[in-house]
Amino acid sequence: MKPPPFSYTKAESMAQALTVLAERGDDCKILAGGQSLVPMMNLRLTYPQHLLDINGLTMLDYVTAEDGQLKVGGLTRHSTLKNSALVAEHCPLMTEAYGYVAHKPVRNRGTIGGNLSHADPSSEMSAVALAAGAVMVARSTGGERQIEAADFFLGTLETALAPDELLVEIRYPAWPGGRGWSFLEVSPRKGDFAIVGVAACLGLKDGACETVRLAYCGVGDRARRIGEAEQAVEGGKPDQALFAKAGEIAGRAIDPQGDYHADPEYRRDLATTLTRRALIAAHSRIA
Ligand SMILES: Cc1cc2nc3c(=O)[nH]c(=O)nc-3n(C[C@H](O)[C@H](O)[C@H](O)COP(=O)(O)OP(=O)(O)OC[C@H]3O[C@@H](n4cnc5c(N)ncnc54)[C@H](O)[C@@H]3O)c2cc1C
Repeated sequence: MKPPPFSYTKAESMAQALTVLAERGDDCKILAGGQSLVPMMNLRLTYPQHLLDINGLTMLDYVTAEDGQLKVGGLTRHSTLKNSALVAEHCPLMTEAYGYVAHKPVRNRGTIGGNLSHADPSSEMSAVALAAGAVMVARSTGGERQIEAADFFLGTLETALAPDELLVEIRYPAWPGGRGWSFLEVSPRKGDFAIVGVAACLGLKDGACETVRLAYCGVGDRARRIGEAEQAVEGGKPDQALFAKAGEIAGRAIDPQGDYHADPEYRRDLATTLTRRALIAAHSRIA
């Protein structure tokens, strides 16, 4: 199918892009990698009047590490992040999760800003942002604001971004030493969206678990952390029984929908098993 008619601006500068967004508001969609937007337009699931192409805003394509943070520009391609030594050093959870994201041609075009703004509930990067405690930097003609990942994902394909805002940067706290991590998922085929995915982070203090983070994709209308499962592990002795208990709690805490790929019961089973395995793997990596 072909998309409905639309007008088009190729942004030549940040100021121009923000002005177009301010003027067009709800009428307008930002075109980044086009890997989600274009199929949705072709299927007539969305029909923006206007497209704002930001691919010329190359100043938004970067990865840096400074001030104790990994900073990623909104237009940075998945492939850049997957292969980045800086990402591997400062957010190894992201590097591991990229082993599950899409296929090379999609990763070569798709961007982290587009991925997070699209807010697919099965997206691995949303779970990574939650587990890592990322902060989104949104810019409009009115200025800049920061949104915690925990407040960013509001529902299926819905975020806290206003229609006139551009996601310009994502900041991940630099990975602290002595913390283990793991990302695991089950998907129908390699490179497909997750049926269920889990991002786990774990530290140890005096032999007990601390700073436990368990974030999930594919378990509901948005990626989410499961606080009950985290609290069950926090302060406990890191062993198989504790990690299995956390898995049971996670499986019970979610209320997933069924679809073509999996019914709710299977998703609960996956959350239970993947939580246990991810915690075991994260524990084994604590230096
Ligand atoms: C075959 C296939 C397999 C895939 N598999 C996976 C997978 O396993 N896991 C996964 O997570 N994703 C997967 N994807 C999606 C892919 O990761 C996309 O890159 C991503 O979802 C959207 O990024 P994009 O840059 O292409 O954004 P676009 O498609 O250009 O835009 C998506 C949405 O975000 C908005 N937007 C874009 N950039 C910004 C910005 N900077 N600020 C504010 N709003 C913005 C757009 O207006 C639009 O609403 C797959 C896609 C395909 C086609």
